Amino acid sequence: MKAALLYEGGVLRVAETPDPVADGWALVEARAAGVCGTELHFVDGMIPPPVIPFQLGHESAGVVLSVPEGAGGVQAGDRVAVYNFVGCGRCRACTTGRESLCTAPVGQLGFSLPGGFADIVRAPVSNLIPLPENVSFESAAILSCSGMSVVHACRLAEVSLGDVVVVDGIGGVGAMAVQVAVAAGARVLAVADTQNRGDLALELGASDAIVLDGGVGYDTLPDRVRELTTGAGATHYVELVGTEDTYLAGIRSLGRGGKVVIIGYTDQHLNVHPIELILSELQVITSVAGSRRDLETAIDLAATDRLRVTVDTRYPLEDIGTAVSRLKAREVRGRNVIVW
Ligand SMILES: [Zn+2]
Ligand SMILES: [Zn+2]
Repeated sequence: MKAALLYEGGVLRVAETPDPVADGWALVEARAAGVCGTELHFVDGMIPPPVIPFQLGHESAGVVLSVPEGAGGVQAGDRVAVYNFVGCGRCRACTTGRESLCTAPVGQLGFSLPGGFADIVRAPVSNLIPLPENVSFESAAILSCSGMSVVHACRLAEVSLGDVVVVDGIGGVGAMAVQVAVAAGARVLAVADTQNRGDLALELGASDAIVLDGGVGYDTLPDRVRELTTGAGATHYVELVGTEDTYLAGIRSLGRGGKVVIIGYTDQHLNVHPIELILSELQVITSVAGSRRDLETAIDLAATDRLRVTVDTRYPLEDIGTAVSRLKAREVRGRNVIVW
């Protein structure tokens, strides 16, 4: 089969490689694989690959080719999304629906196990989630990273009816965060760096878009949030930018008992005096990836038209280099997807 492999020095190249051997797992014929910002970290060396060469890709969907004998659930021919995290299945995290915190994981497709940028993908049968007819392979692939993560974050932070959620950063993940918070019953205030992204947030259900320009910066954002909430402040601040300024703006935009939900990060630190948190009993919540159930929920939201996925461009596997370099150049609105 063909696969996109990462070689020494961050070189990503499509090459012939042996077909995977099922060995107790399922095989899936790839139909779509999302190109995530994480890929850039492999290419630039921030995340070291487990082996050289390494088959990248952790957002994948396709058609089941084979399942091990006696396996229940999905069958050959079924359309599925591939949940990329392979937990031990036995620890407390795995048995309480928080697989991504597994203490003895088998691995993660596209991070430590061969990933989805390949004609055939190998995964445990329990990681395959059947797709409703009206959820496309490309949507399913993208939901299996950003969609799932956003559902997970909103669950951890208990976003619910009547809440006021600020979503800071309207990229691929932010666009989904707006929709998931709206689906949970919250009012959403979007914080965007351009009018274009602000408009996108409004289209996706945000009640207000705060565009950072000469008028509003991160220093005055908390005042703007209070103006829009009759002085109360937000109940949640979903932080997707990850700089010291944005963390502090998030904390200061919250009302009493509010929660800052940290998903984004850069090389900057969260630097705050505890008293700023203590006096209003603010909570700092962090969120990483998601559980199989979170992915199922994301797929259900998409199937019922409550979560739309924005695809920028579709590429054949051979053109993965172009898809990655356009992402690096920040030219991508939504996600680039490899399709078969
Ligand atoms: Zn991803
Ligand atoms: Zn486990």
